[in-house]
Amino acid sequence: MSRKFGEAKMTDKTLIQSLIQQQRDFFAMGQTQNIQFRLEQLYRLKQAIASHEAEIIKAVKADLHRPDLEAYLELAPVAEINYAIKSLKSWVKPQKVTPSLTQFPATTWMYPQPLGVVLIIAPWNYPFQLMISPLVGAIAAGNCAILKPSEISQNTAKILAHLINKTFNPEVVTVIEGGVETSQELLAEKFDHIFFTGGTRVGQIVMEAAAKHLTPVTLELGGKSPCIVDDHIQLDYTAKRIIWGKFVNAGQTCIAPDYLLVNAGIKSELITAMTDWIQSFFGENPATSPDYSRIINSFHFNRLQKLLQAGKILIGGESNPETQYIAPTIIDQISWDDPIMQEEIFGPILPILEYEDLGDAIAQINSRPKPLALYFFSQDPDQQNRILQETTSGTLCLNDTLLQFSSQTLPFGGVGQSGIGSCHGKASFDRFSHYRSVLKQTFLFDLPLRYAPYKGKEWLMKKLLMFS
Ligand code: NAD
Repeated sequence: MSRKFGEAKMTDKTLIQSLIQQQRDFFAMGQTQNIQFRLEQLYRLKQAIASHEAEIIKAVKADLHRPDLEAYLELAPVAEINYAIKSLKSWVKPQKVTPSLTQFPATTWMYPQPLGVVLIIAPWNYPFQLMISPLVGAIAAGNCAILKPSEISQNTAKILAHLINKTFNPEVVTVIEGGVETSQELLAEKFDHIFFTGGTRVGQIVMEAAAKHLTPVTLELGGKSPCIVDDHIQLDYTAKRIIWGKFVNAGQTCIAPDYLLVNAGIKSELITAMTDWIQSFFGENPATSPDYSRIINSFHFNRLQKLLQAGKILIGGESNPETQYIAPTIIDQISWDDPIMQEEIFGPILPILEYEDLGDAIAQINSRPKPLALYFFSQDPDQQNRILQETTSGTLCLNDTLLQFSSQTLPFGGVGQSGIGSCHGKASFDRFSHYRSVLKQTFLFDLPLRYAPYKGKEWLMKKLLMFS
């Protein structure tokens, strides 16, 4: 754990407790209620990112061997900061709501309040943006925040700690670096909200720990995101968009198409077109491409190697443990029972299954956990409607991949096992706010209807309750 102040010999637990207490004391002073204060923190964050841009890119590249353009994706939260700065004054406004007849003559409204001290835990795959993006919502909503980056993307964790701890008073925002143990020590404490991004298994651990304190959680989890391809498509764009969405960051994207479910009639043409696009994006030997990432560590490299055992490799399959390289790979002749279909792949391997009837594909998807993302390629509006109405998923993207993530106005999140709660833009502000319901009564007069003695009032009360 790098965040150390006070006595040099402080244990992790006492340091964590002391930091939480400092943030609680600061929050209780009410300064974060002030909109100007929140805006100032957001401007500071923006400025800090701008002045550390090169170091952030360098760290992400060191962790994931990212090409420049993909490393720049980590700076996406700057748009989120700009949007929050622009929108904050309207977000914080109390929302007037129409009172019911039984409340007459009172006025009612909803008033967004900050929650208090929140914990944000991030994963390693987009290690900077998935930490900063929820932080924007937490600050905008007027909270204090403790951030726990992933220990696996160590270079990014270091730059995050440096940037945040240099920019913010630790009573407002601070980073605590550390691994699973640190995460568990943090989870043992009481927070006012926990925002967790990571795998489903750890999501369960987080929720269990939060339940002890009745702490509300946002869980941005993963799972297998299917991609269905109908035979009414623009073939070339379909192939290109799937290959991009699957192999960007070497498949280590929570919403990457995990597997393809392809209409049998278009399968061989689609495979040819996808093979062409892999070669066009990364050349004959993707190991030498400057535009192709590597697997984060040997644990995930070995895990992915095991998934390569089943089926028939149509393209790719080559790997190098020294550089943690796995080629963009397409596998055919896979069954639902193969290991690759039992877990989230989270790497550059694309298995293909086929279907004859869309109803069968839908039934297969509906018999599995609700996905984070569902992709459907089809030009047929009737088939699109079937997918809309007969399936569910955190997000649905028609005729493209990944783009549903990059919006301030379209909330992003899972459903069922793929997560709880959504984020981005106003949705992030809402995640970190409590909408307090407020009723204000007048002293001008006082209707006698609700007070005893009740004799003769029942009929009017009944009518009021019915039409309220
Ligand atoms: P992970 O769940 O292993 O780790 C996430 C965080 O939890 C890390 O900070 C880690 O230190 C901590 N952690 C790990 N084990 C823990 C434990 N036993 N107790 C307490 N804390 C623990 O996830 P990951 O490997 O970093 O990321 C990959 C997963 O995250 C994939 O499943 C992916 O789909 C998902 N993901 C989801 C989103 C989304 O927005 N829904 C975004 C990115 C990644």
